[in-house]
Amino acid sequence: MLRVNRVHHPVTALGPGTRLGIWLQGCPLACPGCMSRDTWDPNGGTDVPIAELVALWRRAVAAGADGLTVSGGEPLEQAEPLARFLDEARAVGGDQEPDFLLYTGFELDELDVTRRAVLARADAVVTGRYQVALPTGLLWRGSANQQLIPLTDLGRDRYAAYTDFVVDHPPIQIAVDDERLFVIGVPPPGALPRLERALRDQGIAFREVAWRR
Ligand code: SF4
Repeated sequence: MLRVNRVHHPVTALGPGTRLGIWLQGCPLACPGCMSRDTWDPNGGTDVPIAELVALWRRAVAAGADGLTVSGGEPLEQAEPLARFLDEARAVGGDQEPDFLLYTGFELDELDVTRRAVLARADAVVTGRYQVALPTGLLWRGSANQQLIPLTDLGRDRYAAYTDFVVDHPPIQIAVDDERLFVIGVPPPGALPRLERALRDQGIAFREVAWRR
């Protein structure tokens, strides 16, 4: 079982190609300026059986997914079930040889054996806490301290060109379900409050937002 905040496919703003995105619930790191405060509470979200997530992954692969992105929250707070899920997801295979990208707020030297075991199952990792004082144009990252580190041959093949890649406008997706609007990607500082104001001017007001709680 994994505690999940949300799942989305296709994700095109967090990693190369089209991807299944899984946001895990629970984060103790409390970075000031975090845009995903709805993921902090470890009791929030929903318990999802690993078999159900593998089924979603299998469906995404059948639809041509290039990879899996696991974010949060802090995914390594659920290291053991996450490692089990990644093993089962890897066994699905896929014609496109899908890659696994993991986000963590931890630095590599903070990881214990259990958490390192998750990295051993990923092709690339983005490390480090979000630091609001270090805005960046680095692709797929929220602040300049965060590193994109390829971990496998597949990871080097897909990600080595992007470790220092800077963009003028970060890729952003908007997704909606019955109740929520999600911003997928890493919006630049101030973008979300601007979006909130623009929608309010059009008569659309949010009941609550994940970047201000
Ligand atoms: S930015 Fe990431 S690591 Fe930092 S508090 Fe938010 S979810 Fe946790």
